[in-house]
Amino acid sequence: MDEDVFDAIVVGGGFAGLSAAYRLATAGRSVLLIERGSTCGAKNLTGGRIYSYALRALLGERWHEAPVQREVKREVLALLTETDAVSVESTLTSADQESYTVLARPLLAWLADQAEEAGAMIVTGTTVDSLIVRDGRVRGVRADGDELEARVVIDCEGINPLLLEREGLIRRLDPHAVAVGAKYVYRFGSAREVDRIFGVRPGEGTAVLGMGAVTHGVFGGVFCYANTDSVSLGLVLDSAEWKASGRPILDTAEALREHPALGRYVDGGELIEYGAHLVYEGGYDTLPAFSGDGWLVCGDAAGLCLNRGFTIRGMDYAVLSGIAAADTVIEATQAGDALPSAQALTAYGTRLEQSMLRDFRTTRGAHDWMSSTIDLFTVYPQLAVDAMAALYHVGPEPLTPVGTTLWRAARQVKKPVRTARTLLKGVRTL
Ligand SMILES: Cc1cc2nc3c(=O)[nH]c(=O)nc-3n(C[C@H](O)[C@H](O)[C@H](O)COP(=O)(O)OP(=O)(O)OC[C@H]3O[C@@H](n4cnc5c(N)ncnc54)[C@H](O)[C@@H]3O)c2cc1C
Repeated sequence: MDEDVFDAIVVGGGFAGLSAAYRLATAGRSVLLIERGSTCGAKNLTGGRIYSYALRALLGERWHEAPVQREVKREVLALLTETDAVSVESTLTSADQESYTVLARPLLAWLADQAEEAGAMIVTGTTVDSLIVRDGRVRGVRADGDELEARVVIDCEGINPLLLEREGLIRRLDPHAVAVGAKYVYRFGSAREVDRIFGVRPGEGTAVLGMGAVTHGVFGGVFCYANTDSVSLGLVLDSAEWKASGRPILDTAEALREHPALGRYVDGGELIEYGAHLVYEGGYDTLPAFSGDGWLVCGDAAGLCLNRGFTIRGMDYAVLSGIAAADTVIEATQAGDALPSAQALTAYGTRLEQSMLRDFRTTRGAHDWMSSTIDLFTVYPQLAVDAMAALYHVGPEPLTPVGTTLWRAARQVKKPVRTARTLLKGVRTL
C-alpha cells in the first residue's frame, strides 16, 4: 500500500484518541492523531476522578509515572438543602480504591508525549473538517486543505461526533441523552493547605458528591475533588431540564462556593480555570453502531460515559475503548496491504460487548429512574436535614425521644408505600 496511507488516522486527542494512538504506535502501526486544540488537553474538561485500572491496562506499571493528582481515600456523599447538608463520610484507607483525582490538561499532555515517544505522529492546532468517503468507505480525512488517507479512521472527537454525523454514519446527538457540566478550579498556596482544608493526611485525596437544592430541582449533582494543590468544584445537570429553567450554568456552578458545606473547600483559593462541557448519559439504549466501512468510534463520541449519580465514568471507558479500537485495527491490518473489511472491524463492537457494555446493560434504566425521581433532589435532602436538626436540637423544652423524632420525619414522606417501591426500583437499576 502507498506509503502516504497511514494504518490509522485518529481524530481527537482526548483520553480515547491518545489511548488508541499509543496502543497502535506501540504495536508498530503508522498512526496520525489530529487534535484541534493548541495542545492535547487544551480543549478538554472533566470532573475529574479517574479509575486507574484503565491507565494500567494501557501503560502497565508505567502508569504510576502519570501526572495524576491525589489517590481518593475519603468519600463524602452529601444531601444538600439551600443552606444545610447531611453527609455520609467514608475513610477508605485499607482498600485500594484505584481512583485518583486528575486535571485533564497535564494528564493528556503527558499521554500525548507517551504516544509520540512510541512513534505516533501528533498534529495539534488543526481541525479535521470532513471525512473522505469513496464508494461508501471512509478513506481518510480533510484538514487544513490537505487530504490524508488511512486504512482506518478512528473517530474520538468527543460527545458531538459531527464528522460521522455529517456522513450519516452515526445518530444525531439526542438532547435527552446529554447533561451539561461546569467546573471551577481554585488553586491554593501549597499541597499542605489542601490537606488541611479536607482534613486528610498529606497527599490523600477526597471526592465529595452531593445532590439537592443546589441544582434547583433539576436532576443532577455536584462534585468537589481535592487535587494536589487545587480544588475542583462543579456540577452536572440534565441539559433539557436545565435549559427550560433558564439559569446560566456557569453562574450556578460559581454559586456553589456560597453553600456552607461546599464553600469551605474552596474559601481562600484563587480561581485559575473554569469551563462548561456536555456529558453523555444516555445509557445502553442510546448507544450507536461502533464501526462501519473504514471507521470506528470511541469514548464520548460513542456514548461510552456512565453517570450513576454517585460516580461518573467517562475517562476510563474512553481509555478502554481506545485500546479496543486499536487492538481491532492491529488485528485487521496484520494480513498486509488490504483495507480491513467492515466485517473485520465489527470485532471492535464484540470487544466492547465483552467488557464495558456489561456495565451499561447492568445500569439500563438508571438514568430514567433518576430523572423521574425528582424527590431525590428536593424532598429527601430536606427530610434528612430536618431529621438531623431535630436529633441534635437541645433547648429549654422537654426532650423528644429519638423514635418520635424519626417517626415525625418519616411521616413527612407522602405516599410511603409508593416511595419505598420507587427507592427499591432505584437500588435495582443502579
Ligand atoms: C463536568 C464534567 C465532569 C466529569 N467528571 C468525570 C469524572 O469525574 N470521571 C470520569 O471518568 N469522567 C468524567 N467526565 C466525563 C469524561 O470527561 C469524558 O467521558 C471523557 O473526557 C471523554 O474522553 P474522549 O476522549 O472521548 O473525549 P474528549 O475528552 O472530549 O476529547 C475529544 C477531543 O477531540 C477533539 N476534537 C473534536 N473535534 C475535532 C476535530 N474535528 N478535529 C480535531 N480534533 C477534534 C477535541 O478538541 C478534544 O480534544 C466528566 C465530564 C464533564 C464535562
